Amino acid sequence: MNTVTRPRILVVGGGFAGVACVRRLERKLSPWAADITLVTPTSYQLYMPLLPQVASGVLTPQSVALSLRRSTKYRTRIIPGGAIGVDLRSKVCVIRTITDRTVTEPYDYIVLAPGSITRTFDIPGLTDHAYGMKTLAEAAYIRDHVIAQLDLADASEDPAERAARLQFVVVGGGYAGTETAACLQRLTHAAVERYPRLDPGLIKWHLIDIAPKLMPELGEKLGRSAQEILTRRGIEISLGVSIAKAGPEEVTFTDGRVIPTHTLIWTAGVVASPLIATLDAETVRGRLAVNADMCLPGHDGVFALGDSAAVPDLAKGEGAVCPPTAQHALRQGRQVADNVIATLAGRPLRPYHHKDLGLVVDLGGTDAVSKPLGVELRGLPAQVAARGYHWTALRTNVAKARVMTNWLLNSVAGDDFVRTGFQSRQRAKLGDFEYTHAYLTPEQVRAHVEEAGRRVR
Ligand SMILES: Cc1cc2nc3c(=O)[nH]c(=O)nc-3n(C[C@H](O)[C@H](O)[C@H](O)COP(=O)(O)OP(=O)(O)OC[C@H]3O[C@@H](n4cnc5c(N)ncnc54)[C@H](O)[C@@H]3O)c2cc1C
Repeated sequence: MNTVTRPRILVVGGGFAGVACVRRLERKLSPWAADITLVTPTSYQLYMPLLPQVASGVLTPQSVALSLRRSTKYRTRIIPGGAIGVDLRSKVCVIRTITDRTVTEPYDYIVLAPGSITRTFDIPGLTDHAYGMKTLAEAAYIRDHVIAQLDLADASEDPAERAARLQFVVVGGGYAGTETAACLQRLTHAAVERYPRLDPGLIKWHLIDIAPKLMPELGEKLGRSAQEILTRRGIEISLGVSIAKAGPEEVTFTDGRVIPTHTLIWTAGVVASPLIATLDAETVRGRLAVNADMCLPGHDGVFALGDSAAVPDLAKGEGAVCPPTAQHALRQGRQVADNVIATLAGRPLRPYHHKDLGLVVDLGGTDAVSKPLGVELRGLPAQVAARGYHWTALRTNVAKARVMTNWLLNSVAGDDFVRTGFQSRQRAKLGDFEYTHAYLTPEQVRAHVEEAGRRVR
């Protein structure tokens, strides 16, 4: 059969949802049944829940970056870049490649899985001075930055500078922020032994959240256990507090406290990828409003899932939408692939239905709290559940081997606290890591697609 006559399936985003979809399509569709194309800026699928362990040096960056080209069975064409707009009427996706070239890609079916970006607010200085924890580059950058603060504090003769460099602020008491604060506090606690000139008492971690509780999804008792573990380790937790202002050398909390610090890590939630706004379609708090079968109402052949879509949570009912978790994204990816195949075959689509399996929170070492299938666990059993869950969820055997080896090596040999020096002279901003300024407006998308069409004619 001629390639041109084959249906073109375009998957946007190579994360949990996108890769699960592509792998299923590759397995279930013969190469002659459809052309599959994936648009993604990176050549790997990032196992994001383990990012705090990359930042703290327990895992190497490579071990959580799962190659998209590991097997010769992976026949999908990959466009290295990011979608910056989609014109639903003409069925064309506008892409900026990693060399900054803008190209257009027509499709018959599109699966939108570009995930989310760090949610920010209009707080003075925030986007200039905060670091996020959403990308591999951010995790590696933060690790270097934190070790650099120890090095700089050690070299400084100025007590005020030393104190400021040894204070760290994490905003966001969800699992991402809590794990990040916990894992990085362990890093500084262990590292300071290698700096005999530094007073360990000067190292101070602050974890703050505007909500009245840490990780409310854990429930009252487990949430309190997590808080006790962190407090015991010297992390100062402030609830009902956010930041009013951020600067290069200090952060002002909304309760008036001014914290001298060079490190502000912002993990206060996520919002859908800005790509969704380019569609000019209905959204639910920024996520694309889709049906339970993950189709966009009124647009044939458009599917959306994962963090970027508001997929109805049928297991919860009452108008609930699935929370933005890897657990849902992965399963939605498989289900969407089945629904794309059903569409091709003219069969009815199936709604997405999954009952949440619970939450695991790795606080480093043997500290953890977990609630698998509603069972509350603390300490070592919780840690076994957390690491066991993540290890099993890693998609490839080579990733499993890398992660397990890293865990073993780290538990035996510890960390050398080496700073790589990449980008050390460049202060990287949130937007630089997450490419938030690349997207077009719906009008720009249409203009671009029309212009590209004229050039072809
Ligand atoms: C620190 C941290 C810890 C977490 N811990 C857990 C946990 O313990 N359990 C859990 O279930 N969930 C956890 N999550 C949430 C989970 O990682 C996300 O819900 C999940 O990754 C969402 O999957 P996704 O496929 O929608 O998006 P992602 O996995 O983020 O994938 C999106 C993909 O799209 C690509 N992309 C982005 N923009 C574009 C574009 N414009 N064009 C093309 N490609 C694009 C990205 O590079 C990426 O490859 C955690 C998240 C973080 C940040």
